Amino acid sequence: MEGAGVKLKRAFGQDHPKLDPFLLLDDFHSDNPEDYIAGFPWHPHRGIETITYMLHGKIKHEDSLGNAGVIESGDVQWMTAGNGIIHQEMPERAEGLMGGFQLWANLPSSHKMMNPRYRDIKKEDIPEIEVGGAKIKIICGEVKGTKGPVQDIITEPEYLDITITQDSEFVHRVKKGHNVFAYVIQGEGYFNLEHNPLLNKDNLILFEDGDVIKISTEDSLLRFLLISGKPIGEPVAWHGPIVMNTQEEIRTAFTEYREGTFIRYTG
Ligand code: FE
Repeated sequence: MEGAGVKLKRAFGQDHPKLDPFLLLDDFHSDNPEDYIAGFPWHPHRGIETITYMLHGKIKHEDSLGNAGVIESGDVQWMTAGNGIIHQEMPERAEGLMGGFQLWANLPSSHKMMNPRYRDIKKEDIPEIEVGGAKIKIICGEVKGTKGPVQDIITEPEYLDITITQDSEFVHRVKKGHNVFAYVIQGEGYFNLEHNPLLNKDNLILFEDGDVIKISTEDSLLRFLLISGKPIGEPVAWHGPIVMNTQEEIRTAFTEYREGTFIRYTG
């Protein structure tokens, strides 16, 4: 349970050297409004980026920069909290399924206190390319010369939504030294050369360091997120929605939040 009572599955939520610069991946999907309607009322963030990718349903958001809007099915919101943002993320009651992901990416000490930045990306602005038996939605990063709409992010992330047809193989070059993980959305497939184990929905796969990954399918199609980024390698002090380098910085942030001086930049 997170926010005001949203039922979700946390694929990971820790400071781990194999996941750095990423801190958390929440997978929320439900066809019961009681699981999600309470939403995430007003709360602060500092020192990180939050990336929301909706697959089904709608989330209404508002923030201290004056942004307000609706993230709809297929849209992405890439929010750099930097020195501080206060926002709310409230699901809209809808027929049927609500589903999506929220990823947290850490910022290095040099950029934790940058001014907040907000990017609202519509479904139609996310390019989709076909490579062999794979369809790739490029949210961030570059594949075969096609760049995703989210650019100039400090940790050089790649965020891809990939669907591979059955009986096919997907080979992808990754930057050496970057951490890479996959999260299965639908179907099943193999994420290593040994073709074992067969992995399916809700599995999180962490890759070893290298420059090429190979993912293959047999009888089923496979849809997954493929995310990578450059590790930061700094100490992490983390309390709730605020992630800094030291406990002192965490205390300062919460004191400022209580005293109403948390927001440094209002646009
Ligand atoms: Fe938030």
